[in-house]
Amino acid sequence: MKLTVWTYEGPPHVGAMRVATAMKGLHYVLHAPQGDTYADLLFTMIERRNHRPPVSYTTFQARDLGEDTANLFKTALHDAFDRFKPQAMIVGSSCTAELIQDDPEGMAATMDLGIPVIPLELPSYQRKENFGSDETFYQIVKAIARPMERTAHVSANLIGPVGLGFRHRDDITEVTALLEEMGIAVNVVAPMGATPADIARMGAAHFNVLMYPEHAETAARWMEKNLGQPFTKTVPIGVGATRDFIAEVARIAGVEPKADDARLRMPWYSQSVDSTYLTGKRVFLFGDATHVKAMARVARDEMGFEVVGLGCYNREFARDIRKLASEFGVEALISDDYLEVEKAIEDLAPEMILGTQMERHIGKRLGIPCAVISAPVHVQDFPARYSPQMGWEGANVIFDTLVHPLVMGLEEHLLHMFREDFEFHDEAGASHHGGAAKARAVEAEPETDQEAAAGAAPAEGEIVWLSAAEKELKKIPFFVRGKAKRNTEKFALEKGVHEISVETLYEAKAHYAR
Ligand code: SF4
Repeated sequence: MKLTVWTYEGPPHVGAMRVATAMKGLHYVLHAPQGDTYADLLFTMIERRNHRPPVSYTTFQARDLGEDTANLFKTALHDAFDRFKPQAMIVGSSCTAELIQDDPEGMAATMDLGIPVIPLELPSYQRKENFGSDETFYQIVKAIARPMERTAHVSANLIGPVGLGFRHRDDITEVTALLEEMGIAVNVVAPMGATPADIARMGAAHFNVLMYPEHAETAARWMEKNLGQPFTKTVPIGVGATRDFIAEVARIAGVEPKADDARLRMPWYSQSVDSTYLTGKRVFLFGDATHVKAMARVARDEMGFEVVGLGCYNREFARDIRKLASEFGVEALISDDYLEVEKAIEDLAPEMILGTQMERHIGKRLGIPCAVISAPVHVQDFPARYSPQMGWEGANVIFDTLVHPLVMGLEEHLLHMFREDFEFHDEAGASHHGGAAKARAVEAEPETDQEAAAGAAPAEGEIVWLSAAEKELKKIPFFVRGKAKRNTEKFALEKGVHEISVETLYEAKAHYAR
């Protein structure tokens, strides 16, 4: 058992729903207790789809348990087949149904509906949502796709976009444009928008573009082996990655690496003089592995930030993220426990967090600005406007997203210079985050600071901030003060000093500047 308040991922059958809802002409019969239809809301409310997901639930109740729940499943399967007339179906169990072991696979096999009925084995107590999507898509592809003659003209499948995907809708448009510029047609986009008949013709493409490894890597590997289709390894998020992606596609497809980047504004925006204050901003990244990987590179190489920590919640990609962290010279945090993430952020005291909706809450509590870069996300991250993450326009969108939460250059100076001002005093925080003001006001109380210092001190010695030093500390702009405080205390501890004076503060500053 594990006490959990927030989860980054849902159970694996939600991942299967994301594939089913993304597709057309496919129906999902889910053996599940009454109440599991809550998951419909993820699609009708957060993603704002205008139709119910193509999912029939058996919705068994307590009184059904004494009787034949297996029959409930068979009836649901028949009813769904008659009513929706799908080209193919997927069948499986939710967490509770897994415990009663009715065997949807065996039951579906005895019914002979004349269409492919694909059973899903989703271990709800070991795996999670992203595994559910990946496994479901793989099972569908394996059951339906077959080798076939390639299209006369060079073409690719786009694989991985699913329902409830962070910006998947617009990423498809952007990647399609990148391929078109190189004269490559899109054969099938899947699962998003694909029918089982489309899955059947995936073998005609020359290669696959793996847009989101979390959702389609297993299928990509299967198609490589069984349909002879290579797949791309670069996810085109950020300018550098997009250029690498174009080079990779050109190599795989044997075409010229052409790119029309006339729409790309991000590099100039981040080089222009107003962006100078962004240099060295300390950021912490957390989310799904694909987005963290891509955004770490954007943060360091394209925005000029300093990456002070990074991690992901999906353990399937732990090795990749550890490798990435070692390239960046930081610790990798692989965890699906938001309290651990919160602790890591608190310890590192970054100036900005790039994360999920959970990190937005954490950021709000700690008074640290946060930009959302990965699922899970709230409804506002399914925007009406065009807002991809991939390709050239994606880079433009990312620049704006990463800059908006930060205090602007002029305001940063004003906050620094006029600390006693009624409007620009530093406890007021940035003009656009209400939450920060409150958090800082508490921290600004002298007793609280001392208590905090005492609390953070190790058992063998207590660290006390002398009042002059404390006053001096407050001269440091609030968004870097946490880091300065921690560094000074670390320095003092190393030197065996237990009282921090103004001199200690400046010695520590000089020490870390070296
Ligand atoms: S079956 Fe799973 S998803 Fe449904 S209510 Fe139980 S724990 Fe939640």
